[in-house]
Amino acid sequence: MRFRTLKTIGVALVIVMAPWAVHSQSAGPATSTTRVVLLGTGTPAIDPDRSGPATAVIVNDTAYLIDIGPGMVRRAKAAVLDRGITALEPTKLRVVFVTHLHSDHTVGYPDLIFTPWTVGRRFPLEVYGPKGLKSMTENLMEAYRADIETRTNAHGNQREFPDGHKVNAHEITAGVIYKDENVTVTAFATKHAMESYGYRFDTADRSIVISGDTSPTQATIDACRGCDVLIHEANTLAWLAKRPETFQSFAAKYHTTTLQLAELATKAKPRLLIVYHASIVLRPIVSPIASSPEELLKEMQSRYTGRVVVGQDLDVY
Ligand SMILES: [Zn+2]
Ligand SMILES: [Zn+2]
Repeated sequence: MRFRTLKTIGVALVIVMAPWAVHSQSAGPATSTTRVVLLGTGTPAIDPDRSGPATAVIVNDTAYLIDIGPGMVRRAKAAVLDRGITALEPTKLRVVFVTHLHSDHTVGYPDLIFTPWTVGRRFPLEVYGPKGLKSMTENLMEAYRADIETRTNAHGNQREFPDGHKVNAHEITAGVIYKDENVTVTAFATKHAMESYGYRFDTADRSIVISGDTSPTQATIDACRGCDVLIHEANTLAWLAKRPETFQSFAAKYHTTTLQLAELATKAKPRLLIVYHASIVLRPIVSPIASSPEELLKEMQSRYTGRVVVGQDLDVY
């Protein structure tokens, strides 16, 4: 009787969880070929140790990027040089998913459009994100009109590959938004100060969910449900207590605390939880009120018994 009850529940879950349920039982990191590379784990804080939010999922020597925080292009090159991840060679970067249009997630966009082009990218970028992405892209092209013109005219040093600065901007809604031979990407709506999405990546061997900026939401739990890796933002309670009331009320609406993330992850049950976009610093001189990675981990582990790590730039999972 007990067995039959469990079986019935299992069937119900598979129906609810499609299309990603089939991948939930995939092999863990020990046999994985899919890798997660943290290119930027920071916040708007100007921290030289933590670039702005940017993450890469690497499958079969192809990189899929999530968010374009400041410093991302140079962190990608560092991943090539220091970690041997050749897929992150900046001239090879092509596919990008943007969680939302806040500046801390997108000020690296012109850098990603123009810098790899000037050193040899020959194909357009494919960028996916919320409404407003097309307008942001068009305005960046206009902002850099003089640069584009002088690089592509008869004397320009990029005239041989004039498509390398182009962008195909795709404005998305929730659901499967991208599929190729390596990966299926599903967007889910999150709860932030503007239209925002989290993304789930399903590859042959792993399932990876990334939150972007959001308060805790059932959609994230549903997207993960035993996924291999959940990458989620969090602020420490210790840091929030030292912030002004205006920020505390903003954060209560649009961000996640360690306490809330512990509750969420207990329900979502990822094999590995990576905390990123967190109010921490490696060096207290950067911000005396920010928490240390150890304090963040302690807040998480006091409430969450699953495997959890504090993401740092250039970590590979
Ligand atoms: Zn944001
Ligand atoms: Zn942010």
